[in-house]
Amino acid sequence: MTERIFNFYAGPAALPLEVLQEAQAELLNFDHTGMSIMEISHRSKAYEAINAEAEASLKELLGLSDDYRVLFLQGGASSQFFMVPMNFLPSGRTADYILTGSWSEKALKEAQAFGQTHVAATTSADNYRRIPSATEIHLSENPVYAHITSNNTIFGTQWQSFPKLTAPFVADMSSDILSRPFDASNFALIYAGAQKNLGPSGVTVVIIRKDWAESSPATIPTMLRYSTHSKNASLYNTPPSVAVYMINLVLRWLKKQGGLAAIAKKNQEKAALIYDAIDRSGGFYRGHADKDSRSLMNITFRLPSEELEQTFASQATQSDMIGLKGHRSVGGLRASVYNAMPLAGCQALAAFMREFQRTNG
Ligand SMILES: *Cc1c(COP(=O)(O)O)cnc(C)c1O
Repeated sequence: MTERIFNFYAGPAALPLEVLQEAQAELLNFDHTGMSIMEISHRSKAYEAINAEAEASLKELLGLSDDYRVLFLQGGASSQFFMVPMNFLPSGRTADYILTGSWSEKALKEAQAFGQTHVAATTSADNYRRIPSATEIHLSENPVYAHITSNNTIFGTQWQSFPKLTAPFVADMSSDILSRPFDASNFALIYAGAQKNLGPSGVTVVIIRKDWAESSPATIPTMLRYSTHSKNASLYNTPPSVAVYMINLVLRWLKKQGGLAAIAKKNQEKAALIYDAIDRSGGFYRGHADKDSRSLMNITFRLPSEELEQTFASQATQSDMIGLKGHRSVGGLRASVYNAMPLAGCQALAAFMREFQRTNG
């Protein structure tokens, strides 16, 4: 294989070509050190500069002040499911969860091991086709936090805007962080596994308000306290340095694209190409998500039969479009079109969809 192909995998997912080329160019000799970034001490000046730049760029892109810290942790977004309640759900208090898909269910399940929880809203009865409306959300009396999943990677739904809630907001933004502007200062804690929209796997980004970062209980293991990582600027122990380096390159790329408003415009344009192919297919393609809950990152759809779905996925692969098979729990097809997916990839997929319908419809 000599050419790059269009990668629609949900995660790990496509990275910007320019970023990969940059990493390739300095693989053997990073920043005149005569070493690869993989070989450099995390206590070196060179690595400290990357760590600091990545934190500053994330805050800059999100418009966050010094009231926030950015941490680079390990264990995936899945470890945040338990770290959040472990640090912030004391006995006698309640944490609220809004359920919009499999990932929020998993987050709730982990919290249940630590204390009282309350489901403030759920759309599971609708097979998670939609995001609840503001009037469907009923918080408990005085929750320590309200947890939401901003984009539902598996079902293909996304909060179009965030509700105004009185509780401190915690969000899993693994699959849409930095894909659009939003008011990040409404959140006490945001977490995201990097492998969808930020970089490679192996690092989890946590954006945390400083008062929260300082309030971890001393009774939990040192490594599982946010305060440990906040105090040590993510350098308490050996960080996933190569993954953080890659995130830093992705953030530079994102700034060059014009930041979140500019990337959001591109993301809308890209997703519209594929949703148009669905909506104009006269029912041949059926979107899983309700129209007003559609995700710009993960586009889920079905064909008239599972057999056709399989044929679609394998013919798409032959046409250099990979990773379109849907998650096993929803079935059908899923096109993941994160920031790094070029417009040309969405154009190619939309054209392929029309041609596939013409020959199989
Ligand atoms: C992928 C994903 C996760 C799990 O991430 P890991 O880093 O594999 O633990 C959690 N939440 C959402 C929304 C995801 O898309």
